[in-house]
Amino acid sequence: MSGRLLDGRAVAKAVRAEVATDAARFLAEHGRPVGLDVVLVGEDPASQVYVRNKEKAAAQAGIRGRVHRLAADTSQAALLSLLAELNADDAVDGILVQLPVPQGLDELTTTDAIDPAKDVDGLHPLNAGRLVAGRPGLRPCTPRGCMRLLEETGVALSGKRAIVIGRSNLVGKPIGQMLLAASCTVTMAHSRTVDLADRVRESDVVIAAVGRPHLVRGDWVKPGAIVIDVGINRLDDGSLAGDVDFDGAMERAAWVSPVPRGVGPMTIAMLLRNAVDAAFARRAA
Ligand code: NAD
Repeated sequence: MSGRLLDGRAVAKAVRAEVATDAARFLAEHGRPVGLDVVLVGEDPASQVYVRNKEKAAAQAGIRGRVHRLAADTSQAALLSLLAELNADDAVDGILVQLPVPQGLDELTTTDAIDPAKDVDGLHPLNAGRLVAGRPGLRPCTPRGCMRLLEETGVALSGKRAIVIGRSNLVGKPIGQMLLAASCTVTMAHSRTVDLADRVRESDVVIAAVGRPHLVRGDWVKPGAIVIDVGINRLDDGSLAGDVDFDGAMERAAWVSPVPRGVGPMTIAMLLRNAVDAAFARRAA
């Protein structure tokens, strides 16, 4: 093994400590805690775990976390009415609707209804547009976490060749834009990409965000590359695997993020970061 482990759990702990300091400063300056409201519709078991983890992490950082649990058959109108209430509530700084929403609810109608100033998932088209235009705004949490992990390597990104595998609105596309903003030469790869292995072999930075266990093989990795594995895949034996062959990648890369304990903990830490950033930005507006 020649690669170094990009320890998301350790970096996330540092981010959460920074966030806790800033959340305490907000409370001292404004006389109320930062407020983060999470809306969970239905009873999807994975979503319930994610939401519980977010609630716990918020409390640990001194953020007032509140979860609104709605029945799976909640109407679109009722969901929009709750979002309108939260938008109007000055004590609410961040709003997140846990995705996916159950059938019968429209994801875009839902995320579009969140006040962009409180959109801690960075999914509102205004925030997506601000990212593309290189203007300040709330950025999606997982991509922000990936960028923080890259920063942790100390490697200068300017001029590097980066490949992002996956083009979702939540992960792949925003990471691509952030790498572009960091002056990388970015290749966006996806399910129709031809010669993916060759595109990965010429890349100094590899971000895998697909959802296919071990899609990226160790021998695809350019020696000295940085590999960030966003994928979370549940294998038949119940264990978790990323999109990258971790052991193979470690043979050649300079840095590799593991699954679990890589990007996952960074996502929650960056959600808290976004909530505190949104709180200060709203006060400054
Ligand atoms: P998605 O299903 O929306 O997008 C997957 C993308 O992968 C698509 O753009 C598709 O074109 C591409 N793709 C599919 N097959 C491919 C192939 N054979 N070769 C190249 N590209 C291919 O998924 P998503 O929401 O972007 O999530 C991606 C992965 O990241 C999933 O495993 C998800 O669980 C994980 N995820 C992790 C975190 C975290 O906090 N660690 C957060 C969000 C998502």
